[in-house]
Amino acid sequence: MDITSNFDGGNIEVLGPGGPHRIRLAIKKDHQSDFFQWFYFRATGALRADCRILIENASQSAYPDGWHNYNVVASYDRQTWFRVPTEYDGTRLIINHRPEYDVVWYATFAPYSMERHADLIASASVNPLVRIRSIGQSLDGQDIDMIEVGSGGGQEGKRIWFIGRQHPGETMAEWWMEGLLDRLLDTDDPVTRSLLSKARFYIIPNMNPDGSRRGHLRTNAAGVNLNRVWNDPDEKNSPEVYWARRNMERLGVDFHMDVHGDEALPYNFLAGFEGIPSINEKQLRLYHRYQATLARLSPDFQTEHGYPKDAPGTSDLKKCTDWVAERFGCPAMTLEMPFKDNANDPEPTFGWSPERSKHLARHCLDALHELIDDL
Ligand code: ZN
Repeated sequence: MDITSNFDGGNIEVLGPGGPHRIRLAIKKDHQSDFFQWFYFRATGALRADCRILIENASQSAYPDGWHNYNVVASYDRQTWFRVPTEYDGTRLIINHRPEYDVVWYATFAPYSMERHADLIASASVNPLVRIRSIGQSLDGQDIDMIEVGSGGGQEGKRIWFIGRQHPGETMAEWWMEGLLDRLLDTDDPVTRSLLSKARFYIIPNMNPDGSRRGHLRTNAAGVNLNRVWNDPDEKNSPEVYWARRNMERLGVDFHMDVHGDEALPYNFLAGFEGIPSINEKQLRLYHRYQATLARLSPDFQTEHGYPKDAPGTSDLKKCTDWVAERFGCPAMTLEMPFKDNANDPEPTFGWSPERSKHLARHCLDALHELIDDL
């Protein structure tokens, strides 16, 4: 049996020879960093063998709680990603699977390759509503793409920002972006038509192209966690944030969402900016209203489970949401989706999935539509 990960987004290390009943693997660390959790590999030659795949360093990963009640995803055609029974014994992640074909891919979550990102940009670019900008280059020399949609409202139009995948292993964030763009480019959709008459959209679907291609969990090519440098980004080590911030300064921000995935919590939730120094009543009220509206519109979204809120005045503004909320005085938020599933409506065959991520994005636009006039 052969195991490989030398492809776009791949990550695994083979620890030694062994038959299908004892395949010993380890996840590689992000380059110049200690973070690891994302894996994506291909296995060949195990047709109808009872495979037992051991990921031996699972307990040393960034979020070992992420392995409890978790099942890996697998695919034969790289289109449909289904869940495979997985155990976590406190040390190792153990995948038990009997492949039905010669070749099978396994991953932490349905992968979103840089090739697919290129297809996303190409398909958006031919739409007359869209401008594509390369706002800068990553350290590996990839474009950092920004998609501008519409010019609604003229000078008074609201400026709406969505960014995703600062943490490259959180691939659900870019699947979510596909759903967002599907809806935002559908000019027969009345919600889209109304939004585009009032707002212009600035979308960075992949903030971390290098980490994505390298198969990282959390950092860029220099080992920088991009969501910890927003207060002081460095053109040499974190150009992704440096250029995103420059564009926000240039264009302005009235509403902002940063899209992520959470390894441990089996829910969709938002995190806000309660710890910023200059928090204002209006931005907080709009954020709470957005949260409540999304919970009403999407059964996949909830407000009971999430992160603890920062105490007032304690934020160091390193996180994107906090920095944007402080700098622009507007509602800003971090959307978290599960790697596992939505425990309020579990779907055992696929778990949380690309399709469900896309649906949530569509509902995020519905919720925005309900409050856009008050931004
Ligand atoms: Zn994240």
